[in-house]
Amino acid sequence: MTATENGSPKQPSTDRSLPVIENFTRRAAVKGAFATLGAGAFVAAISPLRQAAENSSAAEFMQTHYTELSPDQKGDVIARLEAETKEKYGADVTIADDRPIPGTKFVYAINLSVCNGNGKCVEACHKENNHDRDTNQSYIRVLEMPKGTMDMEKGSTTYSGTVPKDDKFYLPVQCQQCDEPPCVDVCPVKATWKEEDGIVVVDYNWCIGCRYCEAACPYHARRFNWKKPEVPAKEINPDQSYLSNRVRPVGVVEKCTYCLHRTRRGKLPACLEACPTGARVFGNILDPESNIRWILENKRVYILKEELGTKPAFFYYFD
Ligand code: SF4
Ligand code: SF4
Repeated sequence: MTATENGSPKQPSTDRSLPVIENFTRRAAVKGAFATLGAGAFVAAISPLRQAAENSSAAEFMQTHYTELSPDQKGDVIARLEAETKEKYGADVTIADDRPIPGTKFVYAINLSVCNGNGKCVEACHKENNHDRDTNQSYIRVLEMPKGTMDMEKGSTTYSGTVPKDDKFYLPVQCQQCDEPPCVDVCPVKATWKEEDGIVVVDYNWCIGCRYCEAACPYHARRFNWKKPEVPAKEINPDQSYLSNRVRPVGVVEKCTYCLHRTRRGKLPACLEACPTGARVFGNILDPESNIRWILENKRVYILKEELGTKPAFFYYFD
């Protein structure tokens, strides 16, 4: 695999291999959840499922798991979602089904000596991923940290005033695309999984909104859609993907996907492009010529909460 200047792959492949997930319908998934969870937890989990049913069209609720859809079914689902976006938001959008590029393992790194806490990445994520305008949602939180610690629990997300402050540094945190993701393990219906290029995804049409994954994530990287996302038609990003930035339904959990609708097409994540300081480096770690590979081989890199064994594909370093 060759790389662009920033280390992202140049040539998307046509391979469309899918993760192996047992063949099951939503009904079988619920039955499986009962067996796994036991009666008490099942009742708690089924409550959001009822809510999901109320918020879904019949076609959406009866839809098969993403990994079990045939190409024709997938085409029908995508056409329905595009039509719904037009109907509900007045926007013409294209929803693609971007699959992992073979031979790619995406990794992100941030130079904390350079990040100055300006928050342009947060804003870019908000726009790129069609987040709710009312709640100003984003998949990125920038923590203002006291110098001398990498304990993210000591950071503040509500800082204000002129940045950077002399006694602080700035720690952007988003989904770490863990290689051992606790969020995936706890999902009772397998609505979230890790793909071959390392990106952890959610099938928003399969998620029942129980929020177990949100609770399991030690990086506070998952978001729950409490309300119907409001985005003016002219502000909707029309370049969308099924597992990425399409407008998500109310009552489901969502997260950063390393902008897979861009990165699986050879582009860079929106947050990286928006960063005015050049603090962000992204690319394919399997490419020996990539910048990201050079960073990991030549810098002293840190991961957050290493003791938990989540094995993040997200690194931090200082000059
Ligand atoms: S950071 Fe959280 S949401 Fe992302 S893969 Fe890890 S546990 Fe899951
Ligand atoms: S993705 Fe999260 S909220 Fe959705 S069903 Fe799975 S654990 Fe529950």
